[in-house]
Parts: sequence; C-alpha cells; structure tokens
Amino acid sequence: MRMSKMHMKTLREVPAEAEIPSHILLLRAGMIRKLVSGVYGFMPMGWRSLRKIEEIIRQEMDAAGGQEIHMSAIQPAELWQESGRWNDYGPELWRLQDRNGREFCLGPTHEEIFTDLIRSDVTSYRQLPVNLYQIQTKYRDEARPRFGLMRSREFIMKDAYSFDLNEEGLDESYRQMYEAYEKIYTRCGLTFRPVEADSGAIGGSNSHEFTALSEVGESEIAYCTHCDMAATSERAACTDDPAGEEAMLPMEEVETPGTKTIDAVCDYLHLDKKKSIKALLFVTYDEEGQENGYVAAFVRGDRELNMVKLCHALSIPEHAIAFAEEEKMAAATGCVGGFTGPVGLHDCTIVVDSELKGLKNGCAGACKADHHLINVNYGRDYEGDIIADIKLLQEGDPCPCCGSPIKYTRGIEVGQVFKLGTKYSKAMGATYKDENQKDQLIWMGCYGIGVSRTLAAIVEQHHDDAGIIWPVSVAPYHVIITLMKEKDAVQAALAEKIYQALTAAGAEVLLDDRRERPGVKFKDAELLGMPIQITVGRDAADGRVEYKLRREKDKSIKTAQEAVDEALALIEAER
Ligand code: ATP
Ligand code: MG
Repeated sequence: MRMSKMHMKTLREVPAEAEIPSHILLLRAGMIRKLVSGVYGFMPMGWRSLRKIEEIIRQEMDAAGGQEIHMSAIQPAELWQESGRWNDYGPELWRLQDRNGREFCLGPTHEEIFTDLIRSDVTSYRQLPVNLYQIQTKYRDEARPRFGLMRSREFIMKDAYSFDLNEEGLDESYRQMYEAYEKIYTRCGLTFRPVEADSGAIGGSNSHEFTALSEVGESEIAYCTHCDMAATSERAACTDDPAGEEAMLPMEEVETPGTKTIDAVCDYLHLDKKKSIKALLFVTYDEEGQENGYVAAFVRGDRELNMVKLCHALSIPEHAIAFAEEEKMAAATGCVGGFTGPVGLHDCTIVVDSELKGLKNGCAGACKADHHLINVNYGRDYEGDIIADIKLLQEGDPCPCCGSPIKYTRGIEVGQVFKLGTKYSKAMGATYKDENQKDQLIWMGCYGIGVSRTLAAIVEQHHDDAGIIWPVSVAPYHVIITLMKEKDAVQAALAEKIYQALTAAGAEVLLDDRRERPGVKFKDAELLGMPIQITVGRDAADGRVEYKLRREKDKSIKTAQEAVDEALALIEAER
C-alpha cells in the first residue's frame, strides 16, 4: 500500500477524552474514529489488525471443532423472557421496539438465540456434540463507556456455544475451548493469565477469565505465589479466621459518642478491628425498579464487603441493589447511621459473613445513637437470615488453597469461558432423545472473546512513548518503507524495487511515498508501529538502506537484498 493513496490521518496532539495509552495511540495513529461516547469506527489500518485477530480466532476455533455461523444482532424479547434475563440483565440491555410495538433488544450476548436454534434443530443424541460460533457486533449500554475500545457500547465479540450430551461432554468441550484460547492469545502476542471468575449475568457454575496483564486493566486478580490459585477479586474465596477460644462474656451496652466509623470506635474502646463488626446497609429493587426491601450485611471490621458475593448470597442481580438512604431505612428497620449492629435490627434481611460465627465477644453498633454493644456473640445475641462468605480476599490474606500470602495484580479481561450446564436448556426446553428415546437436557458452555478489546489490550502491552509496537502476527502491515526524498529518482526507484520484492514474496508492505518532510515520516513510522522499518535515503546510490525493528533500538545499514531477506525471514518466523 502506498501511503500517498491511503485514507489516513495521524494526530500530533493527545485527544482530550483519551486517558490510557491504547486509546490515545489508536486515536493518534488514526486507526479508530469516535462517533459518540462508546461507539467507534475502524479506519483502514485499525481494521486490518482487527481482521488479523479475527483470523487467528477463526483458525483456532475451527481447529478445535467449532463451526462459524452468523446470527442477527436483533433479538426478540420473547426469547429473553423465556430465559428470565429480560429482567435480570438490567439497564445494560439495549431495548427497542418495532413500528408495531413489538419488543426487541440489540444482543449483548447470544445464549438465548443459540439455545433456540439448537432446540429446534437437534432432536437426537446422534447430532451432539456441536460447537457453533460467530464473530459479530454486540451492544451493551454500559453505565460508563471508557478507554476507547476497552469498554464501548458497540463492540466486536467472538461468541461460541457448545452443546453436549452430558456433563463429561461439557467438561471436554470446555477444555478444548480453554486450550484454543491459550493458543489465540499467545498468537496475538499477549502476556495473559487465565483466572477463576464469577459467572455474572451469564449464569452457570464454572468460569475462567482470560486476562491480559496490565496496570490499566479493570480486573483485579488475586493470585498465590506458592500454588497456582488465581481468581478475580469478585470470585476469590476468602478463608475465615479460626474461631476464638475465649469464653463468652455478658453483652453490655457502652457509650461511644461520635464514633461513627470502625476506626473511631476501635480507637475509643482500644479494640483490635478484628474484634469489631461492620454494618453495610442496602435497599433492593424488584423487576419494575420499585424498592422491595432492606438488607444489612455484616463483616468483621478489618474486612471489606464483596458486592458480587453479597448478590449471590441474596440471589439477585447486581443492578437490583444499592446503598440505602439511612433515614428512610432507619424508620423501617431501627438501624442508626454509624451505630448499626445486628442486635435490635428488624424488618430487613440480615446477611452475616461466615467468619462472624466464630468471632467471640465482638463489638457492634447498638442501633442507638452514640452507643455500641460489646461482647456480642453469634447464636447467643443475634442470628443471620443468610450466612455466607461475603468478604473480599485482600493482599496478604492466606491463599484459600494453600495458605500462602495472596498478591494482587491487574488485568484486562479479553475473554471468558463458562460452563452453563443446563441453565438455558432447562429454562428454554432444549432437549434431545437418548438411545432409549428418553428426553434429556442438553449441557451447554459458552465462550466469549472481546475482539476489539483484544486489539486495545495488544496496544496496551506493546507500545512506547513514540507509538505502537505491533507484534508481527497482528500488525496492519509487516514493513514500512520510508522514502526520504520522494522526488529523488534513485531513492524512489530503490524503494519501489524493495516494495515489489517484499510484496511479491507475500509480505504486507506500506510505502511512505507521501510528500512530507522526513521528520514527519519518521514520527509517523514510530507512531503507526509496523514491526520492520526500512529507510531509503542517501545511501540508495550505493544500493544500501537502513534496517531497523520497531521493537529494538539498533539500526543497521544493509544492501537492499539483505534487508528484503532479513525482513522475509522475520515475517515467516512470527506471522
Ligand atoms: P466486563 O466485566 O468487562 O463488563 P463481561 O464479563 O460483562 O465484561 P462477557 O459477557 O464475558 O463480558 O463478554 C465476553 C467478552 O467481551 C469479555 O471478556 C470482554 O473481552 C468483551 N467485552 C465485554 N464488554 C465489553 C465492552 N463493553 N466493550 C468491549 N469489549 C467488551
Ligand atoms: Mg466476562
């Protein structure tokens, strides 16, 4: 491709709305273009990279037995009502009506559509297993679209669905997809880590997120330095501290003026925070968005509440709960802002972290202004409606598997695999007839890759101050030939010769033949980030060029033929 003919526009300035390197660089390199918040278009070079990622995904999905199809992004509400997700999915679901008032959504994911397809096409055990996938545009009306392609409202996803006879079949399909994902991200040049994950609105029992390690990632990953435990902070189990040995003392009310926080009350009473009980107050909503109850959650004073675990304990989606307005809740339940404890609270669901069952002689709010209760003991003084692990595993806590201290790192969720089991087949009646003509539920798995987010993650891991440093496998072009003086006939002829030789050998080449100053061309070559840079300048008279890899500092002078040979060898090895 000759850059003089290419539709492109690079920017010198950092666009105001962009905060993280991948967003800044993809905009500056003119590879993506914003339309409105969370909605982006792809320009020629960005689209080429995206298609390369798609191609890697296709090859590995096909190799693992997947078959590509393409379903509509528009989905009828009825299917979502059947699965129960028309309500559960919440405001992220992009809903619309046709001219006759029939309801639809723009698909954020396709479990319902694929389940519907299979229930009508599959009747016999002989038709299973099957794995279908598509690469398609998805829609989610994200509360806070940000970071460009990372969290957009329209994005490209690969979604695959496996259908098996039984649980063992699902385990095998899941394993195949897991391994395909490892190959895909490796080929994309990503440093990644599969971690145990929560299954969120998708549902199901078992799930892994594939995270590209990065400081700007929104996934918090708890991992063990000793064993191979790695999980998202949302999912990571947290071991209870062992129960105290001391004898229960009589419960007492004490005056604690103005001590509205755990720190304040523990300072005032000279208590270890591990002896205190922290309250968090919530209101819940029904399917119509009306308030339908209050929740008080209790964890030990030095712990943090894990909202995802709390929602699981309550069996409600995350959008159905919010912090309560204290005054309103006080009238209904007897709670007192800053002085709420489990004793004396009424008319609300009390969720108690499992660790508190073993806490002896704890200190909790007295549900009375400026007062706390000491020597509070579970079972004797209060009980919970729900007892569960609802606390966050924190850095330094013991690993739930081996007890070694936990560390934290951050990653970008580039994909997730789920064992759905029979959740959708049961809800939607997807069955097959077994060898004895008996109806059996189909076992399902689903497997997503954020294709456009993967593009951003690659840039996040491969850049420097000057621009992008594409891995060969996903680079828009393999080589950029910078022609210093396009009017110099000798230089132009040599650049053309190299361009032709490389192209004929199957390399993808950009020839910067624009009428621009060399400084501009060099800056753009750095910004655009093609892996191999060949500069044709003064030495052209001797048939020599400058050869440099974008990822390395050193450059060398080579004959045109040497440069071509070396470039082709590198492309062959890494494409
Ligand atoms: P997140 O937790 O980041 O909101 P998710 O877990 O809801 O994502 P999935 O339903 O697992 O997302 O979707 C599969 C993949 O699609 C994700 O792993 C991610 O790579 C990608 N993805 C999800 N939401 C977005 C988005 N708003 N913009 C770009 N990619 C997304
Ligand atoms: Mg996910």
